[in-house]
Amino acid sequence: MLYFLGHPVEIVRRARRRTLTIKVQESSLRVLTNQQVKTDQILAFLNSKENWIAKHLNQIKIRQTQFPKPTLQNGSHYPWLGERKYFQFAESKKQKVQFKIEDGFLICYVAQALQSSSTEIQRQLIKFYKTQAMQYLETRVSYWSDVTGLYPNQLQFRSPRSRWGSCSSQKHISLNWKLICQSPALIDYVIVHELCHLQHLNHSTQFWNLVESHLPDYQVIEKVLQDQVYLGNFLDHPK
Ligand SMILES: [Zn+2]
Repeated sequence: MLYFLGHPVEIVRRARRRTLTIKVQESSLRVLTNQQVKTDQILAFLNSKENWIAKHLNQIKIRQTQFPKPTLQNGSHYPWLGERKYFQFAESKKQKVQFKIEDGFLICYVAQALQSSSTEIQRQLIKFYKTQAMQYLETRVSYWSDVTGLYPNQLQFRSPRSRWGSCSSQKHISLNWKLICQSPALIDYVIVHELCHLQHLNHSTQFWNLVESHLPDYQVIEKVLQDQVYLGNFLDHPK
């Protein structure tokens, strides 16, 4: 195994790949290349990009401190609509793992025998967040569509790592379902922002005026937006 700056280097080779690409990830550096490129060429390439790699590794470290990954342990806290929900195991007779939000708790109903199967619990947790998120977001989109008179042709849900949403010229709106971790005010802003793109597919003055006419305080949220995007990253499927 090759290491660079103390991080394992994962080399992914595809015959038709023409370029060398580096992806800085949480647990490794991933190099995308073809069959012909030799290891010492890869090392030379990494060396030439050392400053850039170090900068990105540092950003990841800061993010991990700022948004620590919650664990599957009683008392661990999970973000939910801008609040903290405390994780709690509860005994269940069913074979299936189930989740519920009850007051300040995120309850995981699971049979005693399954409490240690963290992969399955994690999988169900992600599913639970996604299902709840889609319901919540759909309701808010329809609320704001009625307020603004702007209706998308299609509403999709995705989970990109660093984007909140997007709007296409076909009037398809795509929302990041990990938004469910954020405060209702932030969620509403993202929705109004994308709905306003149905009228102005740009960030022109007219666009911002339209956003402001529906949400006069939008600038306050716009300021914290970018920092908050990593809050939901614990919901990414492990690679
Ligand atoms: Zn925009």
